[in-house]
Amino acid sequence: MKPLIVPFFISHQGCPHRCVFCDQRTISGRGGEFPADEELRAAVAAAAVSRGGRPVEVAFYGGTFTSIPRTEQQRLLGVLQPLLAAQVIASVRISTRPDAVDGESARFLRDHGVTTVELGVQSMDDRVLAASGRGHNAADTERAFSVLREEGIAVGAQLMPGLPGDTAESSLASLRRVLSLGPSCLRIYPTVVVEGTELAELWRCGRYTPLERDAAVSLCARMLRLATEAGVPVIRIGLQPTEELEAPGTILAGPWHSAFRQLVEGELWCELLLRLTDGIPPGSGVRLICAPTRVSDVVGQRRRNLERLATERGVRVVRVDTVPAFPPFDLEISHSGGTVTGSLFP
Ligand code: SF4
Repeated sequence: MKPLIVPFFISHQGCPHRCVFCDQRTISGRGGEFPADEELRAAVAAAAVSRGGRPVEVAFYGGTFTSIPRTEQQRLLGVLQPLLAAQVIASVRISTRPDAVDGESARFLRDHGVTTVELGVQSMDDRVLAASGRGHNAADTERAFSVLREEGIAVGAQLMPGLPGDTAESSLASLRRVLSLGPSCLRIYPTVVVEGTELAELWRCGRYTPLERDAAVSLCARMLRLATEAGVPVIRIGLQPTEELEAPGTILAGPWHSAFRQLVEGELWCELLLRLTDGIPPGSGVRLICAPTRVSDVVGQRRRNLERLATERGVRVVRVDTVPAFPPFDLEISHSGGTVTGSLFP
């Protein structure tokens, strides 16, 4: 069962410097102050009431948790210890940088009930990491995975296609290398240009060009397919919309969309529709059958997939029907000449 996350955003706390693309305060919409003991307890108590049977997980996001002063780490995790012991919360998750983890910090996290660490991997291409001012390399990520997994801690990875110097090929190569390390989950954030960052200056003077939205959607669709086929859940694609992020003048350029994941999943369904209709004569009318939860993805935003089917195959969708127990990644297409079926992840 998916946990109910109680998130605390400690924006930029512990970060050794500002990476060129990053403004956590704008991205998360939070100032980043450390929560007081009472604030932690109150948020957990509220979650315990509304969890509806789900396990509760406390998460510290948006900074470099393992580089904040150890006394502060001890205080934040210390408040949670009685709640872990009483099983009010089931687990703790933190995010940090690959070069801020070693064997000793991994043991400290394990001893304080941290079960998942999300690493800001961003890329496994050292040239891209250098151009993005990350200050670590791919070998640091491999070391961090190794020491954390040795302590039995699950490791999630964040990847950012479209960073300076990145290409579709290097993004896919980064993903493959991360998948070989056995991540427990992935987040994929296509790079956008946020006002006030160094990337905004690079973009203004023409030294950085972000991915076009269609290219980013198509790349993220390939990444989602690879990760899913490897059995690794992708828990987020695209930045979470916040009031700050959506304010005019905040995102200057790049493939921003408030429902980016839906575009990506729609792209995969469109590929499946085009594949399954390959042999259907142009001018045919077809009936689609899918799971009830998949209709909007199959149809695409603003019926984009149905329009592409009409343009690229000359095939018209006359009905979309749903079957409650239909496998969630399957699609059936009936036409006058027969029925074809296929799956998003065969
Ligand atoms: S990307 Fe991570 S390490 Fe870099 S400034 Fe942002 S929160 Fe800190």
